[in-house]
Amino acid sequence: MKLCDLFNREKTLVSFEIFPPKQTVTLESIFKTTEGLQTLNPDFISITYGAGGSASDRTLETADKVKNTYHVEALAHLTCINSQKDDIDTVLNQLQAHNIQNILAMRGDYPLDKGSLKNMTTTFPYAKNLIAHIKSQHDFCIAAAAYPEGHLECPNLAEDTVHLKEKVDSGTDFLITQIFFDNAVLYNFLDRIRQANITVPVCAGIMPLLNSRQVARIHGLCGASIPKPLQSIIEKYENSPNDFEKAGIEYACNQITDLIAHKVDGIHLYTMNKLEQSKTIIQETGLR
Ligand code: FAD
Repeated sequence: MKLCDLFNREKTLVSFEIFPPKQTVTLESIFKTTEGLQTLNPDFISITYGAGGSASDRTLETADKVKNTYHVEALAHLTCINSQKDDIDTVLNQLQAHNIQNILAMRGDYPLDKGSLKNMTTTFPYAKNLIAHIKSQHDFCIAAAAYPEGHLECPNLAEDTVHLKEKVDSGTDFLITQIFFDNAVLYNFLDRIRQANITVPVCAGIMPLLNSRQVARIHGLCGASIPKPLQSIIEKYENSPNDFEKAGIEYACNQITDLIAHKVDGIHLYTMNKLEQSKTIIQETGLR
């Protein structure tokens, strides 16, 4: 099923993001997590793509399991930053052969190691080029990434909105947002993009902070700002891991409850492959 057909309804969609473990580990653990997530009856599960296209076979294998063993719609992530058209077409044809009909199409991040930049070749410089290609040559429902606080490389929100509009106009069916910890940030983003005539559905990306190590990492990776109430939690429970996790889950639940009240199109939970914590959040918020 194409996910774009699911958005015409009153209820908030629920989706989970999972990542295949690194190459040295078998996929059994993620299959087990998926089996557990499936019992929560999500509308779809998305599967990340290794940076720069590494381990694309793992995304395919996991997406195949999600869709064909657990019978949950799969959204396979795909990045183009270090790939030629033929590489991309190979992955798309493989996905299609496994009956995966939904792609989250992205550019991907530049590698931190500047040396490897020299060896990089790409047919599609931006996600919008990849999306236009998929739309014209293949038959998928296409999601794209959106950044309520602006993408880290973009100088200002106005320019970010212009680029988002180009990306949507090139064939995006719906958007999934980067993590945010302040719902006002999302509501401002929605106002901004609706004014720019970007009308596709938006799934709001929520990640519970479960430990203090995550904080610096998340901020460094995606630039999500930490509002005062969350900062207080971080400081209060820095040295009490159990209390930190409990408070982080409660914070995410409060965010979700407010988002549902504001009738967002979907809640996309970045599960970090944590089954029990994801179950708690879905049950506490009454999403299932
Ligand atoms: P684009 O939309 O191409 O934008 C990249 C930058 O270029 C932005 O700053 C944009 O404003 C700018 N830009 C766009 N067009 C132009 C133009 N014409 N001229 C100048 N500037 C322009 N990464 C992975 O490697 N694997 C994953 O599985 C993965 N999953 C993700 C899931 C979600 C929900 C999100 C939000 C991100 C995910 N990422 C993933 C990270 C993503 O790859 C990075 O954020 C990446 O840096 C940008 O990808 P994009 O598709 O948004 O890029």
